[in-house]
Amino acid sequence: MSVVGFFALMLVGSSEVPLDHEIQAVRQDQSGVTLYRAAEARAGGVLLVEVDASGWCDAPAITWMRRWRPTRRAGDNWRILLPVPLGAAGGSNLLRVHCGREEIGFSVPVWHDAFSETQLHVAPKYTRKPPPRVAAESRRIQEAWRQSNAGWFWDEPFSAPVATRITSAFGTQRVFNGKLESRHLGVDLDGEVGTPVVAANAGRVTLTANNFFYTGNAVFIDHGDQLFSVYFHLSQANVREGQMVNRGQRIGTMGRTGRVTGPHLHFGVKLDGIDVDPFELIGLELEPSLSRRITNR
Ligand SMILES: [Zn+2]
Repeated sequence: MSVVGFFALMLVGSSEVPLDHEIQAVRQDQSGVTLYRAAEARAGGVLLVEVDASGWCDAPAITWMRRWRPTRRAGDNWRILLPVPLGAAGGSNLLRVHCGREEIGFSVPVWHDAFSETQLHVAPKYTRKPPPRVAAESRRIQEAWRQSNAGWFWDEPFSAPVATRITSAFGTQRVFNGKLESRHLGVDLDGEVGTPVVAANAGRVTLTANNFFYTGNAVFIDHGDQLFSVYFHLSQANVREGQMVNRGQRIGTMGRTGRVTGPHLHFGVKLDGIDVDPFELIGLELEPSLSRRITNR
């Protein structure tokens, strides 16, 4: 598709601007809106969108996957990090940039990776009906998801909580004791009991779970604007609820608590209530306007 073709589009209703995989930025001279797409839209991933709405709009909003969200100021532009759910439809998905009563639609292609299937063997108690305490634990986790700061606590990229190999990738189909149970909504990192685990980025601890049935000892960190990272199956947590942590700060040690087959760290990320691949955040380009902008003059 020719980039030149985009210039012909007018700001009328929700005119759609198709993006293909090679194009990360589109300038619409008619409207003054530039959309920078800094991550590729992969189901289970994230989409970092930066809007240059100068001359058109102050504080644009975005609708994506049927949800309306405000953007945040980022230099001269406006920025938002959006989840791409595992269950998102493949192909074209509509992203709308709103300003007052006006809007522009962008067609963002989403593709699905092939996910592998793994057989796991855990103690039989984990495949039977869960014990009553799970309901109370689940409520505490829901409370943790509700405590998000308005605005990011971070301005540097995410880093891995342990420098080690991945033993189970995000999205893997999981068969527990022969029964297909769920998708793996995090990444498992290999290691021994006692290996230090650090915060993937700056944030505030919203929950330290004490030997919960599924997560074991776990730490939940809010990074702001509905973005959380979680660290499960720890032998020990070294932080307390409400505590601010820095990127790379030790928060606990790897263990084998909760539903596990052996010692490892389950590292997860939730954005807007949707589980996404935490490794999409590691290495996420935060300055799309510098690195990915396409000029077509
Ligand atoms: Zn896991």
